[in-house]
Amino acid sequence: MLTDVPPRKASRAGFLESDRIKTLDLPQDGCLFAIAKSIEAKPADVRRACAQFLDGDSNFYNVPDCGIRVLAARPLRVRERGTSELFGDYDAETLLIRVWMRTAVRKEITSFGTFLSTLCHEFCHHLDYQKFRFRDSWHTRGFYERAAALYHHARGTPPKRLFWVALPGGRWRIDWPRTNRGG
Ligand SMILES: [Zn+2]
Repeated sequence: MLTDVPPRKASRAGFLESDRIKTLDLPQDGCLFAIAKSIEAKPADVRRACAQFLDGDSNFYNVPDCGIRVLAARPLRVRERGTSELFGDYDAETLLIRVWMRTAVRKEITSFGTFLSTLCHEFCHHLDYQKFRFRDSWHTRGFYERAAALYHHARGTPPKRLFWVALPGGRWRIDWPRTNRGG
């Protein structure tokens, strides 16, 4: 995971705020976990389960619902936003999340973990606009931390502390060996 290049001037304050917000309130009733389980258990009805999952999220965060489209494969024309959008995307104007079941290159079925992680990632773009009211939804360290918090909550796995390595140009990438070791 790699962060975006920090924008200049007008958007910079929002970018820095997004970078700084590293936690997300999470529902305490376990309902997202239960719905995530049903996404895994019922691949034939994955769209409905995804819609339930996103409706549950939107209710909890008190933001407008977003739409969901589950595609068999990655559409040919996708607005690229770096390497983060390999398995899904979000349209801030139509509030539509799209996720696809097969990877673009090797056409393999996306694993459940990757699929759920993508859903959480795209929903965090929705939150950036609708809850935090950012002008753009950048991939900052804070963005990835929020998406990871939501993912681990929904998956029922313990959250990991993310360790970052600074890159030239104000970007960061995750230090996976260190993150996986826990320090
Ligand atoms: Zn993204």
